[in-house]
Formats: sequence, C-alpha cells, structure tokens
Amino acid sequence: MTDRRIVVVGAGPRALGLVERIGANARVVGSPRERVEVHVVDPHPPGGGRIWRSAQSPLLWMNSEAQDVTVFTDASVTCDGPVVPGPSLAEWAAGPDASAAAAALSAHDFAPRVVQADYLEWAWRRVVSTLPEHVTVHAHADRAVELHGTGAEGGHQQVTLARGAVLEGDLVVLAQGYLDQAHAPNEQRLLDDAASRGLTYVPPGHTADLELEGLRAGEPVVVRGMGLAFIDLVVLLGEGRGGTFTGEGTQLTYHPSGREPVLHVGSRRGVPYHAKLGYEVRAAASGPAPMRHLTRERLTALGAGTAALDYRTQVWPLVVLELAVAHYRRLFEAHPERTRGTFEALERALVTADVTSGELTAVALTHLADPEDVFDIERIDRPLRAVIDHTTRPTDVERVVAEHIRLDVVRRADASRSSDRAVFDTLLGVYAALAELVVSGRLLDEDRVRHVEGHFHGLFSFLASGPPPRRLAELLALHRAGVVRFLGPDLELTIEEGAFVGRSGDRVVRARAAVDARLPRPDSALVTDPLVAGLLAAGELRSRPVMAADGTAIGAGQLVADARARAVRADGTVHPRRYLLGPAVSGSAGAGGFSRPRFNGPGFRQNDAVARDLLTVAVSDRATARLRLAPHPVPTTRDKDHRHAS
Ligand SMILES: Cc1cc2nc3c(=O)[nH]c(=O)nc-3n(C[C@H](O)[C@H](O)[C@H](O)COP(=O)(O)OP(=O)(O)OC[C@H]3O[C@@H](n4cnc5c(N)ncnc54)[C@H](O)[C@@H]3O)c2cc1C
Repeated sequence: MTDRRIVVVGAGPRALGLVERIGANARVVGSPRERVEVHVVDPHPPGGGRIWRSAQSPLLWMNSEAQDVTVFTDASVTCDGPVVPGPSLAEWAAGPDASAAAAALSAHDFAPRVVQADYLEWAWRRVVSTLPEHVTVHAHADRAVELHGTGAEGGHQQVTLARGAVLEGDLVVLAQGYLDQAHAPNEQRLLDDAASRGLTYVPPGHTADLELEGLRAGEPVVVRGMGLAFIDLVVLLGEGRGGTFTGEGTQLTYHPSGREPVLHVGSRRGVPYHAKLGYEVRAAASGPAPMRHLTRERLTALGAGTAALDYRTQVWPLVVLELAVAHYRRLFEAHPERTRGTFEALERALVTADVTSGELTAVALTHLADPEDVFDIERIDRPLRAVIDHTTRPTDVERVVAEHIRLDVVRRADASRSSDRAVFDTLLGVYAALAELVVSGRLLDEDRVRHVEGHFHGLFSFLASGPPPRRLAELLALHRAGVVRFLGPDLELTIEEGAFVGRSGDRVVRARAAVDARLPRPDSALVTDPLVAGLLAAGELRSRPVMAADGTAIGAGQLVADARARAVRADGTVHPRRYLLGPAVSGSAGAGGFSRPRFNGPGFRQNDAVARDLLTVAVSDRATARLRLAPHPVPTTRDKDHRHAS
C-alpha cells in the first residue's frame, strides 16, 4: 500500500535536485514504514528535461565552466538533511561514468549543452537507483494539463496528463521551468504585420527551438537583444551554417561559409552581457557573500517589519550600497596602492551618502587614486550613455561597441580588477536577499514585477550571467568579417513602408527580417501552459496585471509562493499541498541555474526544505482535514508612514 504520493510536474534539473533530496531525507525523516511514491511528469527525458535535452545543436554551450556546475550537495550546504556528495560536471567528465561526448571536457571548458544533458541523465539514473527501499520514482513521458484538488483544502490532488491518465497524489510540486506563454501584444503585432507584408519576424523564444530558415544568406537582419539568446543565435547562424574560426584567444578570424545573414544588432544597453570572469580570488569560495547592509535585520526594521516596503527608496539604495562596499572592500584589500585613507572611513561615508544622486561616487573619489576604480552603478548599467548619443555616426558606434567588448574580454580575465569578482559574489547574495523579500510578501506587486523581476534581474544577468569570453572573441571576429554589425543603444524595432526598421538614435537600418533575441519576459497573464493557466483562471495561483506609474502595462510577472515554496492563491492564502519551484516563480531560490561546488547553493537549501516538507506534512487525514492557514501578507497600498523610515 502506498502511504504518500507526490506528483512532480516537470523533470528538469529542479525536479532532479528535489528527487535527490527526497531520497536523502527519506532515510532520516518521515516513517520508514510509510511508502513514498514520487510521480514525475515531463514529455522530455528526466534529469535534463527540455533545456538540457540531447536533441539540440552540439555547438550551443553552457555559460559556466565545467568545474563550476554540480547537482550534488557537499559539506558547504547548510541544510537540515544529509549531505550526499557526488561529482561536479568536470569530475564526472574525468571519471569512468562519462559519456563519449564528455571525454574531451576539461575543468575550465564551457561544456556543450548536450554534454550537460549526458551528465544530468546520468545523475538522474544514479539518484533513482540509490533511493531508499521505501521510496519509488515513476517517470511519465507526458504533459500534465490539469490539476484539481478534491476534499477539504484540496487535500486530495489529481493531475491529468495529455494522454488521459490521471495521477492521484497527496502533494504536488510544479517545477515547470520557463512556462509556455503567448506572445506579448507588441510581439503579436509585429508577427501579424510581418506576415501580411511577407517579412520574417522571429519572436522571443528558446533559441534552440526557433525556426531560423527565414534568415537568408547575405540579407540584413535587425536583431534586438544582446544577451545569451543573441549569443546562441550568432552561433547557429555562423558556425551552425558552416563558418569556421581560426586563431587563438582574442585574436580569432572568422571564415564565412557565405550562408550567413548580416546581423545588425542592438539593445537597450547596446552592448553584450559581460564575459564570464576568468579568475578566482579565493581558493574555496564558500557561498554567496554575506550581506553587510542589505541584511534581514535592516529590512525587518524598515517599516516595523510588517509594512510594504518601497523598493526604489528603501531597498534599491541598500542594493547599490552593498555592491559598492563589496567593490571597494576588495580594492582596499587587494590594491591598497590605488586607494587613499581606510576602507572603514570610506564605508562610513558611503552609508550616509545619497545613493540616488552622484554623491556615492563623489564620496568614493576622495578615497581613490585612480578614478577608473569608482563604482558607478549608472555607468555600469548603461555603459554607452556617456559616449554615444543620437548624433553619433554609425561607424563610430561600431568602433565604440567593438572596443567596449574587446576591453571587457581583457578586463574580465584580469585579476587586478578583482573588485569585479567581489561584485559578482555579492550580486548572488543580493539576489538571495531580494528573493527572501519577495516571498515575505512585503513588496508591492508593482515593485516586484518592475524592479526585482525586471530591472534587477536584467542587471544581474548583464553582470553575472554572461557568455564565455571565447564567445565575445568570436563576436568580434564576426564583426570584423562583416557578419555582425553594431547598431547601438535604445534600439527600437518597427515596421515602416513594408520593411523592418531598426532605429538607434538617428541611425537607421532597414531589413526584410528581424529577430527578438531573448527569452519571453515572464508574464503569468500570458501563460498558455494549460495546467498553470487553469489554476490561474480558478484563482488557485496569484497573478495580477501590474500598471506602471505612467499607466503602461508591465504584465503580471512571475508566480508567487511563500517562504516554504507553497503556492500563493489569488486571495493571498497559501495552498498547503502545492509547491512551486524554479524560474517561473518569483524569488525561487537558485532559479537562475546550477550551483557551483562548495558554494552552499540556495537551490540545494530550498530543495532540501521542500523535500522535508513533502515527507513530513500530514497526509493521512487526506479528504477530511481542513487546514487553516494564515493568509500570505498581501500589501495593497504603500504604507506612507514607514516609507522613508530606515
Ligand atoms: C537556453 C538556456 C540556457 C541556459 N544555460 C544555463 C547555463 O549554462 N548554466 C546555468 O546554470 N543555467 C542555465 N540556464 C538556466 C536554467 O533555468 C537552469 O539551468 C535549469 O534548466 C532550470 O531547471 P528547471 O528544472 O527549473 O527548469 P527547466 O530546465 O525549464 O525544466 C522544466 C521542465 O518542465 C517541463 N514541463 C513544463 N510544463 C510541463 C507540463 N505542463 N507537464 C509536464 N512537464 C512540463 C519542461 O518540459 C521541462 O523539461 C539556461 C536556461 C536557458 C533557457
């Protein structure tokens, strides 16, 4: 007889990590007499799921070094459950279990995604084959389309699969990754207009899934977006169409196949994401840097710990202060010759400076020998603002952007700029602190969607989630070969007089084809995944379209869960039997990707806590219990009294 049934929707890395933690914890919590059955549903193979499937171009790479990727816990992970070590991607690749494709991988390589797919598939098999006897896992190669709860408080869960099977469960975890969603209205307009004029428009999506045949050899294409999806696009249209690189390091030459289009690319910033850092500063990084200013205590004290916080005036200044302090602290430690006075004096001055004006940088400049060492968040966020305006000539824009990329590749490999690494480590800690704030319910929906899921996530990706340096060297080679052209910042894409028009300042390019090179911005109001859309329509998940102060719609953002990762309903109450994990969930720990070894990854900690919940939440009273739960705090208005308190 089965005593506890858990249904997990999605079988990607999140589900893998959760099942691993269920197996580890089932040896120490819950009753060994209780049998636990876990049902995992995904049309894609378990372990890798959709993103990490074997059936994709071997040219696409991860953006972390193989030594920095693991799906197994180690002694650094501060969780209640037992640590069960296992190999990182690099260790697995060097060991007897590696697939043939992994054999050539070294620790500093950026693995092809298909190799990571092999690692995840192997990890899944290992996890499932080492489960304690009373735990079984069943994988269903199908899509879940409906979730119903019957009985009081939805005590009994039913998950319907596309092919008609119904899985009964006590508890359900939705770990569905990036949810399928409809095109945003402006993208749909571009699609419709393009179709009626015989133009080719590729809307936002997973690059590996996109239809790129419509981008013809030699033809100009306007590309909007310079993040990781753009890097993938360039790979598929360059090497993917038969081009080759020769040379070493940053000195590469691209030899076209003649089948490439000419990509005219721009974005809001006008530059690609920063290259991944090429050095370590500590032998054993022990985890995201602890917060000095954006602390739990500080945030709790603001607004007496209960009122809604105002992100812009109360939270963002602490974020900037935290990053600036991390930058200068490392500078004072590593390069005292480039500083004046003491770090302590600088920190005291920074704490009282107005972060939103130029005061923060002015204060810092008095402590620096070299103004290049100043931490200027405005300049970091928009690096071209001071150098390119609407009148800058196209050739000068191309030169400035190419030089920016070249210097970035050099700088990100230069340990004398190790304050960049300090900012990177601190960004991970800031991400975790903001995630905690989101699940505490103390941010208004507008602030959450606009500032945390929007601006901060974008800044984080730009600084901390960039491409391998080699990809930027390739980009420069493609630029020299005339395959990639740089348009500049604040790119706008329209259709005018039968053609796409890419406009950055006074610079204009016309083309028959255009690509929005990015993942769709998460917007729960647009979700088409039938299971989640059904729950949203029934008020079983929370989603509120948000208007910005200027009246523009900014979408409904991500799904919302509480601090234990349980689903928050539209009315703010928490569903006691449903859990939400991963990148579709606002503030979900570690949603951004894989943990490094010895890094106390927040995703491991969250998986562990949820696994223990799943194994211990009372389910014997299935159909009869009526759990009364405190509503999740849902701030509705800003509390003006506490707004500026600090
Ligand atoms: C293109 C791309 C590249 C990335 N590269 C990196 C990288 O290099 N390094 C890194 O650390 N992170 C990277 N990431 C981040 C990525 O989010 C994580 O690595 C990881 O894949 C997240 O795992 P997940 O299980 O939460 O989501 P996913 O990997 O998206 O898995 C979710 C699974 O749920 C399934 N699913 C969805 N809906 C249903 C349903 N209704 N029924 C059944 N199954 C369903 C999907 O098929 C999918 O397999 C990348 C992300 C993308 C999109």
